Amino acid sequence: MLELSRYWNQWQTSYRQPKHSIWWLTSSINPAMNRYDPDNAPDPAEWLALEELTRIQLVEEHHRLARIKLPNLKAHAIFHAIVENQVAENLDPVVRAMTRLTSEGLNRHEAVHAIEGWERRHALPPDGA
Ligand SMILES: [Zn+2]
Repeated sequence: MLELSRYWNQWQTSYRQPKHSIWWLTSSINPAMNRYDPDNAPDPAEWLALEELTRIQLVEEHHRLARIKLPNLKAHAIFHAIVENQVAENLDPVVRAMTRLTSEGLNRHEAVHAIEGWERRHALPPDGA
């Protein structure tokens, strides 16, 4: 048992090293995933292979570069990334909402924002970020 926990700890430690991270593997295989564009759906497998923090950082970076004004970029990026996760995981209500919103004329990014806003209003108290 002791051996097993030692092995586990070693694995965890080495796994956290940058050279072993999923991010490193993904970016070395596909440099395209170094960027995120909400108007083009990311490849689900590539998106989900990224670490959660990397997804949020990519979303944040896009909004910063596009100079999109938001009251709280960090909070927006987190929920924006959650919507992308749900789309990538093929979560039925979210996929259907995306299809409906884009067929009603929103571009993909606007549709992500509409769903993000709805989810945030239902996940956070009214005075939440
Ligand atoms: Zn956004």
